[in-house]
Amino acid sequence: MTHSYPDLALHIGGEWLTGDNRQVFQVIDPATEAPLAALPLASPADLDGALDAARDAFHIWSRTPAPDRAAILHKAAALMRERADFMAYVMTREEGKPLMESRREVLFSADTLDWYAEEGRRAYGRVIPSRMAGHRQIVVREPVGPVAAFTPWNFPVLTPVRKIGGALAAGCSCVLKPAEETPGSALEILRCLVDAGLPPGVLNIVFGVPAEVSEQLIRSPIIRKVSFTGSTAVGRQIAALAAMGPKPTSMELGGHAPVLVFEDADIKSVAAQSMRKFGNSGQSCISPTRFHIHRSLHSAFISTLAASVERLKLGNGLDADTGMGPMANPRRVATMEALINDAVAQGARLVTGGRRGPSPGFYWQPTILADVPLSARIMNEEPFGPVIIANAFDDQADAIAEANRLPVGLAAYAFTADNGRAIALGEQLESGMVGINTYNISVEETPFGGVKDSGYGSEGGSESLESYLTTKFVSQM
Ligand code: NAD
Repeated sequence: MTHSYPDLALHIGGEWLTGDNRQVFQVIDPATEAPLAALPLASPADLDGALDAARDAFHIWSRTPAPDRAAILHKAAALMRERADFMAYVMTREEGKPLMESRREVLFSADTLDWYAEEGRRAYGRVIPSRMAGHRQIVVREPVGPVAAFTPWNFPVLTPVRKIGGALAAGCSCVLKPAEETPGSALEILRCLVDAGLPPGVLNIVFGVPAEVSEQLIRSPIIRKVSFTGSTAVGRQIAALAAMGPKPTSMELGGHAPVLVFEDADIKSVAAQSMRKFGNSGQSCISPTRFHIHRSLHSAFISTLAASVERLKLGNGLDADTGMGPMANPRRVATMEALINDAVAQGARLVTGGRRGPSPGFYWQPTILADVPLSARIMNEEPFGPVIIANAFDDQADAIAEANRLPVGLAAYAFTADNGRAIALGEQLESGMVGINTYNISVEETPFGGVKDSGYGSEGGSESLESYLTTKFVSQM
């Protein structure tokens, strides 16, 4: 079946809005650099409309019984599965990742929506024994209010679903501003929810100049909770704005994940698993990046990994034999070029890759750098791209100190056959998520979030629903 990229619109109070002299943003196909579609941008009046719609819908949705809300979310999840091929096509056209990865993301997102639907039925309160006869002390959990959510371009279905799922399951309405570079994916999620029966105004989607949109939404007294995924720099600005409310925030920010490979690890298995680095062209906040390999395995590990990396086929994500697609935008390619050139100039060894890929398209070759000095920018700034840094270590304490050296702490990984060491690593790695002998750290029922400059709050697990609830105490004689 052939698909075509959909028309784009704002969605406010149940209406699809285009035209009317609104400014537009041109969405680009990263695989070809060809224009895909024009995206209308919200005016300040549009944003006020979205806020009013979210306020009005909150009164209805927050009073809708949780099982009824769950039924709509389950139906939307079923529609996402039915439409997975089309949604994957939209995602690949606007973001670049191979179709198979896009499809997997859509299916994972459908499971996430199902999980939230069920979790929303469990917003339990409690009764605290009273000091007096005939008196009740009741604790109830209530939806916090209309939510403003901001999502980036790298997982354009999953990240919005994580926020929308938690908010809607808890009984909150939402104004979502997805990345302007990947609008179609978010609008397709919305279409599933609308077709599943979501009342108008419960989910509004707007696009615009990011700093202007976030300022207007977050300053509005209608918004009671802010959720952001993106860079630490922007996260700081959003959190500062929200603090004026004050409004609770969830911040899922950048990382720079270390991977410790100890002398007792099975290097073939670790190298094979580490190819997941190149999923989404490395543009993931939990992507394994700073490898520290015990010196006894260092060169064997690098040559095993390099053999697989050199077989990875770079190409358009729509082609069935593509192993890695383009990067999502030209900013990422420019950053890769700057960081890798700087590392090489400072003495790093380029094992493979390290150059732009075919043109047109925002391609960067899958890259391995070895023996990178700590002074190189790439050892200190998240590259957010398809590069593995492969350095050697001699001593466990030094390796852990190096893993913990940066101010970020989102994901950390380690591979060892020693159970005692595994326990010590689980305790000592300063990170919101730790994978030991596995890179699988993200499923819908487990918390997903960082520590230190990687932010706070969770995008998965029961912790996530909690962040959309508030606590009320009722003392009743
Ligand atoms: P960026 O920080 O400008 O944008 C990241 C996202 O935040 C985009 O979706 C953008 O629309 C949005 N944004 C930017 N300014 C905003 C504002 N004032 N209010 C609301 N939203 C705003 O940078 P970028 O060039 O897109 O990406 C650069 C870096 O951001 C990456 O290198 C990476 O470190 C980080 N990033 C992290 C994630 C993540 O999953 N945590 C996702 C995307 C980007």
